[in-house]
Amino acid sequence: MSAETEDGVIIGLEVHVQLNKLHSKLFCSCGLDYHNAPPNTHTCPVCLGLPGSLPVLNKSAVKSAIKVALALNCKIAPHTQFYRKNYYYPDLPKGFQVTQYDYPISVNGYLEIESDQGSRHIRINRVHMEEDPGRLVHEGTIDRSKFTLVDYNRAGVPLLEIVTEPDMRSPKEARRFLNKLRNLLEYLDIFDSDLDGAIRVDANISLAGGVRAEVKNISSYKGAERALSFEIVRQRNVLRRGGVVVQETRHFDELRGVTVSMRTKETEHDYRYFPEPDLVPMQVADWAPEIKKNLPELPDAQKTRFLEEYGITENHAQSLTLDPMLARFFEDVAREIDPKISASWIVDVLTGELNYRDLEIGAFSAENMIEIIKLFIDGTITERGAITIIRTILDGGGTPAEIVAEKELAKVKTDVVTSAVLEVIEECADAVSDYRGGEGKALNYLVGQVMKKTQGRADPPKVRTQLLEELASEDQ
Ligand SMILES: [Zn+2]
Repeated sequence: MSAETEDGVIIGLEVHVQLNKLHSKLFCSCGLDYHNAPPNTHTCPVCLGLPGSLPVLNKSAVKSAIKVALALNCKIAPHTQFYRKNYYYPDLPKGFQVTQYDYPISVNGYLEIESDQGSRHIRINRVHMEEDPGRLVHEGTIDRSKFTLVDYNRAGVPLLEIVTEPDMRSPKEARRFLNKLRNLLEYLDIFDSDLDGAIRVDANISLAGGVRAEVKNISSYKGAERALSFEIVRQRNVLRRGGVVVQETRHFDELRGVTVSMRTKETEHDYRYFPEPDLVPMQVADWAPEIKKNLPELPDAQKTRFLEEYGITENHAQSLTLDPMLARFFEDVAREIDPKISASWIVDVLTGELNYRDLEIGAFSAENMIEIIKLFIDGTITERGAITIIRTILDGGGTPAEIVAEKELAKVKTDVVTSAVLEVIEECADAVSDYRGGEGKALNYLVGQVMKKTQGRADPPKVRTQLLEELASEDQ
C-alpha cells in the first residue's frame, strides 16, 4: 500500500464535460465551433441573457446525456427538470446558470477502473445537464492583468456534470478514473478531448481526521494528479502541525502547480435553487431502450473481444482500445495480416513514432501499414527498413514502394552477402586466426565487417550463421 492509502485519502470528483461534438448550444441555435472564432461572435439574445428571450432545449444534447449515463451504468430518471442556480458573476449574463438539482436526468451508476489493488468500482452519484458559463480572459496571468475580458461564445455550450462518490483513494486512481472516462466519452463520439476547455475537474479531497477541501479549476488530466498530490501534502502538513484543515474552495494554479485558497465554501443554500419556469419538466426515460440498443461497442467490451477473437496480448489489447480510431485501424490491418503481428507493429512501433511527433493515428493509413508489414514478412526489407519507411511517411510522405526504391531499403541478395563474407574472411586474416585461437569476440568483429560491406542491409543473424559455416568448411 502506498503512503497515501495509509493516510486515509478520500477523493471524489465532479467532472464537467462539454458535449462539443454537437452542432448547437443547449438552449439556442448558436454553433459550437467557436474555438478559433473572434470573441462574442457565437451569441444570440438567448445565450446573452437578453430580457424577453426564451430557451428552447436541444434534443440532441438530452440524447447525448442519456448515452453517457447509460455507458456509466446509471439509471435514467423517470422525471427530470432544470433548475436555476443563482449567483452573480460576469461570465453569467442571466445572473443564474440553468442546471439540474433535484431530479437530475440520471443517478446511481459506476465505472470500473484498474488500480494497483486490482479492479475498482467507482460509484457515480449522478450525471446531469447544465449550460457552460462564458469565459473570462486575462492578459497574461489573472493576478497581473490590468483588466478582465468576457467572451460569451462559450455561454450556453451543453455540459454534462459527472459526479462520483468519494471512492478514490489516491491521486493516481483519480487520474485513472479520468483517463477511463475520457476513453469512454470518445468511444461514444460526443466529445473531443483535445479542444480547449473540453473537460474541467473539481475535486473534493480529505484525509482521515480532516474535513474536505474542494479544488477547482483543474483543466487537464495531468493537472488533476498534480493538484491532488499537492493538496494531500498540504493537508498532511497542516494536520502534522496540529492544525485544522478548513472546509474551503481552493483554486489550482496550473503554472505553479499549487492550490490557493479562494473563499470559504458557499453552502447550496446560497444559490437559491428553484425550478426553471421557462423549461418544462421532461419524461425521457422512454428514450433509453432505443439509445441503449444503438450504443457503440465500449472499450472494455472491445478489449475482451480483441483478446478472444485475435488472441493478442493483454497489453496490446489494452493499448489498442485506448482510442476508437486506433482500434479501427488495428482491425483494418488485422483483416490482411496476422493479428498478433499487426498488434505488435501498431502498438510497439507505430504509436511510438506517432507520439514522438505528436500525431494521431489518422496521420497514417492502414493500407500503408499493411504494405510495410507484407514487405517485412516476405523478406524484402529488414525490421529497420520497415521502421525507416514508417518514419519517412510520417515526416513527409511517399508510398512504401517509392521509399524502398529511393532509400535502397531492399535487402541485398544472398549471393552478395556470400561474396562479402568470403571477402571479409580473406581480408581480416588476423581476426580469423584470433577466432580460431578461441577468441569468440573476433566473430562479432567479422559480422560487423560484413554489415559494413553490405551497408547494413544484410541480416546480422544470417551473416553470423554464414560466417560460421564458411569458417568451419575452411577448417577441413
Ligand atoms: Zn445563442
